[in-house]
Amino acid sequence: MSIKENLQKIKEDLPEHVELVAVSKTKTTEEIKQAYDAGQRIFGENKIQEMTEKWASLPKDIAWHMIGHVQRNKVKYMAPYVSLVHGVDSLKLLKEINKQGRKNKRVIPCLLQMHIAREETKFGLDEEELQALIGSSEFRELRNVQIKGLMGMATFTDKEEVVRQEFRYLKNLFDTLREVLPGLSILSMGMSGDYRIAVEEGSTMVRIGSSIFGERQK
Ligand SMILES: *Cc1c(COP(=O)(O)O)cnc(C)c1O
Repeated sequence: MSIKENLQKIKEDLPEHVELVAVSKTKTTEEIKQAYDAGQRIFGENKIQEMTEKWASLPKDIAWHMIGHVQRNKVKYMAPYVSLVHGVDSLKLLKEINKQGRKNKRVIPCLLQMHIAREETKFGLDEEELQALIGSSEFRELRNVQIKGLMGMATFTDKEEVVRQEFRYLKNLFDTLREVLPGLSILSMGMSGDYRIAVEEGSTMVRIGSSIFGERQK
């Protein structure tokens, strides 16, 4: 199936209130252009340098989402244009994004990444770290970042119940957090292998790569 057909199929699958981030990491600008021509406007990348090169050469009405782990010294390259940073997991990083936002006279939308998986390797905050971050006076003083919601990655497993529980946990946390931060509207969870479960559990934004563009080369 073509990129266009894959996109159409996924779109049909998703409820209207769920936004689709087409994860285009490692894919060429030609492949991205095919998705663009099929109407897709939100693309996700996990490396700032690669994203910036693609941003420079592709149409300017694309919304670029940084979905990967963010290196602080590279924030400056994406600050002029990035639409949403999904992987914020420390105050230190948030302060750097704020600083670069100020330099660019922008308020940069961000998600806080929560650690919900059983695997050790996945980045993200635990509940205690989340409370410490949003409760700190430094956080409240940041004017050039805006927290729009939470992001999380479930354990890579075919045990559906494990994945479902992790997404449910994140959704509960999201609902609780909204009582203190009423502006939150985005719950980014779900990838090619688990987005249907994520949507059932309340996702508002899915990040899908291989089901659109095909498998990535290692
Ligand atoms: C690569 C990646 C995705 C997309 O993964 P697929 O399995 O190809 O859909 C989603 N989220 C993050 C954070 C990623 O790094």
